[in-house]
Amino acid sequence: MKNIVILGSTGSIGTNTLEVIAKYPDRFKVLGLSTNTAIDKLINQVKLFKPAFVCISDENSYKLAKDSLTKEGVTVLSGEVGLVELACLDDAQIVVAAIVGCAGLEPTYYALKSGKTIALANKEVLVSAGDLFIREMNERGNHIIPVDSEHSALFQCIQGQDKKSIKKLILTASGGPFCGMKREELAKVTVNDALKHPNWSMGKKITIDSATLMNKGLEMIEAHHLFGLSPNNIEALIHRQSIIHSIVAFKDGSCLAQLSMPDMKGPIAYALSYPERLENIMEPLDLSILGKLTFEKPDKTTFPCLSLAYESMKIGKSMPVVLNAANEIAVSAFLDSMISFIEIPVIIEKVMNIHQPFELSNIEIILEFDRWARNKTMEVIKN
Ligand code: NAD
Ligand code: MG
Repeated sequence: MKNIVILGSTGSIGTNTLEVIAKYPDRFKVLGLSTNTAIDKLINQVKLFKPAFVCISDENSYKLAKDSLTKEGVTVLSGEVGLVELACLDDAQIVVAAIVGCAGLEPTYYALKSGKTIALANKEVLVSAGDLFIREMNERGNHIIPVDSEHSALFQCIQGQDKKSIKKLILTASGGPFCGMKREELAKVTVNDALKHPNWSMGKKITIDSATLMNKGLEMIEAHHLFGLSPNNIEALIHRQSIIHSIVAFKDGSCLAQLSMPDMKGPIAYALSYPERLENIMEPLDLSILGKLTFEKPDKTTFPCLSLAYESMKIGKSMPVVLNAANEIAVSAFLDSMISFIEIPVIIEKVMNIHQPFELSNIEIILEFDRWARNKTMEVIKN
């Protein structure tokens, strides 16, 4: 029996994780759950999965829900300190990192430090602190198992392979709802248009990132850290059907790819049960019904976020922290209708241009750059 803590259990990845766990009660036990503000959802999850601990990050939501959760027999933690405590619970074996954005950085980092296996969906933490995480993982010998579908695909394809034989990682991208559009058309898109992802149902932030192609940029940085390849050996490829989740190209000219229906329960189940595979997780794939799979190069001129992310990965040091924080603020401003869709990359680029990249030695410095970039981005938006 594996004891699982889910950071961000009320989100899209969190609820999919609980669906997987519900199918295998003999293998997984929910030890801890967390939310920021979604207390009704959390209370329902507590009734169904009976965790011993929960954490509510938002102070007001904590006050509102504390009594009813205590009556359920749960220990209720709160705030950033509570989240770190939840992530480091002695009895937990796997911590599912499913918070969105840099808010998940500290709890995930301390979970890794306390020896947990991390099932990682929260890509922003690797974008901001990839070197630190990989160093920590290598020193301790524990694992970060990717949940992001592309990285899960790559992870599955490299099992049993010699790392030195890998030539290139090719991350596939659906292209989002605006694939094929030109800049003039993008200038008119609304928040609702951007939230209509063609293949995946996900949280708002990643859905907007998919529409700008920033998601693929963040994933290239995530892959760079997870698999140790240089930026020159990582590419993005538009594949509208989201059936091939990514491809590893080897030195001899062979490629291995992982295919499945677009369903996050696949990568989540693999991360929880690795190296085993669980039965009946996704709909089986029937390629004869799908008929054809298509591929094209991404349009980096119309979707500049991809190049900004790539640039930040090549510069390294604190630049990806700044890219990520600026993106989080710009996306949230777009969702609040403060800026237009095409202003997102313009704002991020401005903040990157005023930043002097700095060496990152510890988590405090990373958090400091993250705060700096958030404040600068808000200034840029206001001007
Ligand atoms: P979501 O918005 O649906 O859920 C986010 C979760 O984090 C919620 O439980 C929320 O309560 C919690 N949260 C948000 N802000 C918080 C804060 N400040 N402090 C504490 N908790 C906070 O997001 P999601 O779509 O599930 O994505 C989660 C992560 O997984 C993201 O990093 C995303 O990029 C990655 N991811 C998601 C998908 C997907 O299919 N949804 C796929 C691949 C990767
Ligand atoms: Mg992905």
